[in-house]
Amino acid sequence: MNKPLTEFVCDCCGQIIKNPNEGVLEYIEVENPKGSEIYLGKEYKIVHNNNYTSKDSCRIHRNKIGIRDLGLNELLNDDYGTGAIITLIGTSENDSIVIHSDLLECLRRLTVPYYDEAKFYFNEALEDGFIGDNQLDFCKVSKLKEIIMRYSRR
Ligand SMILES: [Zn+2]
Repeated sequence: MNKPLTEFVCDCCGQIIKNPNEGVLEYIEVENPKGSEIYLGKEYKIVHNNNYTSKDSCRIHRNKIGIRDLGLNELLNDDYGTGAIITLIGTSENDSIVIHSDLLECLRRLTVPYYDEAKFYFNEALEDGFIGDNQLDFCKVSKLKEIIMRYSRR
């Protein structure tokens, strides 16, 4: 089992990011349609923090304009607490309360213990009826841990 909130699965290569120093939240920065100085982001991914000029680096948005990244070590630093994460919600590309699903998914992975690993088994667990329609099953730590134990060894 991966170490919760410390080890993450890279969206690019599928291998483990062993600690927050080795990972980044990658996204695309776009102009704010309202002309404000605050830039907005979209297409959030969690990937390895390797040299992204190299061809085999873990970048989803390579060669796109406005590519940015934030170190997971900064986002998960005790000094920030959840402040950095909440700030990110404010930079999602929209001006309503609706949060883009890709950002929401990254935030769950960064804040809910075991979510990052358990999400790979959600379809199987749903088919089996091990988890149901209750949305809360998807962020209940004990349930997520059970999902990993039950499905990871198959
Ligand atoms: Zn990777």
